[in-house]
Amino acid sequence: MKIYIDGIFYDKKDAKISVLDHGLLYGDGVFEGIRAYNGLVFKLEEHIDRLFESAKSIMLTIPMTKKKLIEATILSLRENGLKNGYIRLVVTRGVGDLGLDPRKCRNATIIIIADKIALYPKTFYQKGLEVVTVATPRNLPEALNPQIKSLNYLNNILAKVSAINSGVEEAIMFSWDGHVAECTGDNIFVVKNGELCTPPVYLGILNGITRQVIIGIARKNKFPCTEKILTRHDLFIADEVFLTGTAAEVIPVIKIDSRPIGTGKPGRITRELMREFHALTKKEGVRYSVK
Ligand code: PMP
Repeated sequence: MKIYIDGIFYDKKDAKISVLDHGLLYGDGVFEGIRAYNGLVFKLEEHIDRLFESAKSIMLTIPMTKKKLIEATILSLRENGLKNGYIRLVVTRGVGDLGLDPRKCRNATIIIIADKIALYPKTFYQKGLEVVTVATPRNLPEALNPQIKSLNYLNNILAKVSAINSGVEEAIMFSWDGHVAECTGDNIFVVKNGELCTPPVYLGILNGITRQVIIGIARKNKFPCTEKILTRHDLFIADEVFLTGTAAEVIPVIKIDSRPIGTGKPGRITRELMREFHALTKKEGVRYSVK
């Protein structure tokens, strides 16, 4: 595996950064997870735009233009001979001293890791995923807005630990005042009486790119789809629930807190959206060739 660090490709064993990088010391940095399907990078520009917005929000200057970063991302896929893959783009504040002061970090570090990914086994997509609700609320947007895809994922990791301790893979997180927010690495949708609902971004969630794609597909297919406040009760009485994310794609949820959702099987609308999503990944994206 070849990993890109600041313009150079290194073998995995040699791909190293300084222990004084503030990405490591403080989680001071931003990232993106991007996916390529059969030689097409899905929603590449949207991911790059979000990366730059995350960086802007924390006053981190990415020392590269969007165009060059897109080229470097594609080069990473080609360098690794990947027609299908997952790309992790990371920009850290760079090397500084032991204080917090970001001004001491002269140059941001850019890292691109291109690899294969299978977040969940295939059976989860066919049979559905079991999840739990957890006590850890999502970060307060006024404190650390979840719209910033920052390297500080401890809030999500704490929720993930609770899920693992409960014997499942994913956790549903709430806002501080008890409204459904999102999962540790995915957005959430509820289907009730043929209508799709998903929490609004202002509540304090990441505006997932897959979430936006699903809203687009739903509206095109004439499924009513609204962004609205949801409670635990709305989850329990839903006909269908599913999660969306670049890594997870679209995955049905069949149990929440041991309660079956709807029929306890992946629902019709979820399955249709999964099909439509996969069809889109086959035809849309930035094309590249692999040697
Ligand atoms: N929420 C969180 C907290 C995430 O980390 C992610 C994935 N990185 C998502 C939602 C899904 O976003 P996207 O569809 O852009 O991958």
